[in-house]
Amino acid sequence: MSNLKIAIQKSGRLSENSRKLLEECGIKISNGANVLKTSAGNFPIEVLFLRDDDIPQYVEQKVADIGILGENMVFEKNKDVEIMEQLGFAHCRLSLAIPKEESFSGPGYFNNKKVATSYPRLLRSYFDANNIEAQIEEISGSVEIAPGIGLADAVCDIVSSGSTLMTNGLREVVTVVKSQAVIISNKNLDKSKQEILSKLLFRVRAVKNAKENKYILLNAPEEAIPAICEILPGMKSPTILPLVEKGWCSLHSVVKEDEFWERINQLKKAGAEGILVIPIEKMIL
Ligand code: ATP
Ligand code: MG
Repeated sequence: MSNLKIAIQKSGRLSENSRKLLEECGIKISNGANVLKTSAGNFPIEVLFLRDDDIPQYVEQKVADIGILGENMVFEKNKDVEIMEQLGFAHCRLSLAIPKEESFSGPGYFNNKKVATSYPRLLRSYFDANNIEAQIEEISGSVEIAPGIGLADAVCDIVSSGSTLMTNGLREVVTVVKSQAVIISNKNLDKSKQEILSKLLFRVRAVKNAKENKYILLNAPEEAIPAICEILPGMKSPTILPLVEKGWCSLHSVVKEDEFWERINQLKKAGAEGILVIPIEKMIL
């Protein structure tokens, strides 16, 4: 059986999280700082370290079978590949930004303007959709300095916090596309590679579900249990164990990470005490 070849970013904003994800899926790969590829000791996978720009093309051509990269790059390259799973990291957006002192009335602002970007295809389709006649200046990096050096009137660049734009005197005015890291796949994998990919995706989903949820334990008087169960729907129904102290029990359940602060206040109000919230390593639904 041949190995599944996965392309990940060699170095950059995606590389650490991509390696970490494989590790959390129980796939051990060696460091790879100065190598082009490596294989895992305990999973039929070979890892190729590449520039993110090249990954869609290599996956389309089957140089790699699958890859991890940002949706922004997948959309920009527009290759014939399939997005298999969103990975929940490297959240960012491709945005248009203008000098901060300029007023902005809407997309029409960009008519007859020159806009610097590394994403000419996505920007062109945004302008076409809004009937804007603008000039696109394609540059490969440091897009945010283009207006300052007189290369362009505005930029279209990747933003997460917006602080890079701000330090360059720019103001974000339009989100062109939102992005996060994804797994893409070649569309014609043979059966054995599809099976390895299914195994990998199963593990990826278990890791993702675990990150999105917390295990919660609490003590409560028996009469508070119905109200607490309403607050904590859990995976199916919460586990309830008696405590040594009469009339009291311990309740165990699972709560969504982004809901748990709100729930914890409700739980305390309902009579819960000694609340523990614990990370989950893997969660199989
Ligand atoms: P390479 O050398 O591989 O071509 P690069 O310099 O083009 O790397 P990076 O800056 O490492 O690319 O960004 C890789 C991807 O990480 C981007 O395509 C985007 O999906 C995501 N990303 C970029 N900037 C941010 C950010 N500030 N916050 C979160 N994710 C980001
Ligand atoms: Mg790149």
